[in-house]
Amino acid sequence: MSVVARPGSPVFPLRRQFVTYPVRRPTVDEVVAADRPQEPIHCLRPAAVANTARDFVQSFPGDVLYAVKCNPDPVVLRALWDGGVRHFDCASLSEVRLVRGMFPNAGIHFMHPIKARGAIRESWELLGVRDFVLDSADELAKIRSEIDATGVSGALGLIVRLALPKGAAKLDLSGKFGADFDAAVALLRAARDCAETLGVSFHVGSQCLDPLAWRSALELTGQIIQAAGAKIDVIDVGGGFPVAYPDQEPPPMAAFFAEIKNGFEQLGLPGARLWAEPGRALVAAGTSVVVQVQARRGGMLYVNDGVYGSLADAGTLAFRYPVRLIRPDRDASANRIEFSLFGPTCDSADVMHGPFVLPDDVAEGDWIEIGQLGAYGACLRTAFNGFDHARIVEVTDDVRQTELLRLAA
Ligand SMILES: *Cc1c(COP(=O)(O)O)cnc(C)c1O
Repeated sequence: MSVVARPGSPVFPLRRQFVTYPVRRPTVDEVVAADRPQEPIHCLRPAAVANTARDFVQSFPGDVLYAVKCNPDPVVLRALWDGGVRHFDCASLSEVRLVRGMFPNAGIHFMHPIKARGAIRESWELLGVRDFVLDSADELAKIRSEIDATGVSGALGLIVRLALPKGAAKLDLSGKFGADFDAAVALLRAARDCAETLGVSFHVGSQCLDPLAWRSALELTGQIIQAAGAKIDVIDVGGGFPVAYPDQEPPPMAAFFAEIKNGFEQLGLPGARLWAEPGRALVAAGTSVVVQVQARRGGMLYVNDGVYGSLADAGTLAFRYPVRLIRPDRDASANRIEFSLFGPTCDSADVMHGPFVLPDDVAEGDWIEIGQLGAYGACLRTAFNGFDHARIVEVTDDVRQTELLRLAA
């Protein structure tokens, strides 16, 4: 089995430019002072990722599967492993190959309800994947026939993904996948016949600020399990665990875990395991992006990264991120006002309204550190309009963005 983590691979949009291992510096300020970068710089904080993962793994009352799509950077995956993550939620063959290449002993779970036939086959036959999610009888038939065709035997795990009613999350994920009540009941019964491990999963939606969303989802899960009358081995409460942004202060993670633990116990499934698939909550604080101001027009700052780069969610979804001015040579004004950002492409939709609170004397040439961009940041970059150049630096501090967040509040 070869390591597939090559810089040119499409799972690392940012690493197209890289052939060597990234630079490492103690702090973001030192990165700016040393390099005076004119391209966006992604500052990865592996220590922050490892420490966040360690906290999550130690306090979640079950197994933690990292959702790889959120940030597939090898430095981040390695930091998660260092923090105790041993299971990975993959959604594509490229993600499966990547994780297997890096961690021969990792548990890999193929959690996309609609899979390419070849992806099922290679995952099962060559990459040691045994667990697959599904939300339809068609997918069940597909999984069975592809696995049978390999001639390789193993303990098949089948996880039935439920559809949830639209809830409290910032990003609803139920419109596209998930079996409704009756379909889930039928599917659980059908899957029980061929699965060594049978589970139920759901996703409350990303950046879900309400712990009660998990309680309702677990109640629905209980009703479906009861109607199906099938023995259940795994309850997978999905991702969606929130992080703090300037206008969003989630309850402590313990409140979510308490709700989940309680809801799981209410199901009364002796011997069943509990899983979660966090993405954002593990990696958001692990990356800042440093952008440079190329022009200022009133309250608008023209910067060198935008919605076609790592700030996609600041555009369409209007996410606000913590920001901090970096100006190595002279002091900034103590008076702070609200700005919006324009990205570098010629598309007028390349705008991030924020608001982003910064000193009122921001000027061309200044740098801005934008925090909490470890989740759904770099992985969404495109090469549109030629703005595909960015660099990666590792920084060794672990501020976990608390300072940035406090400044932005
Ligand atoms: C995206 C996704 C996740 C991770 O979601 P977060 O909101 O980042 O925690 C987990 N599971 C599935 C099935 C997903 O699609």
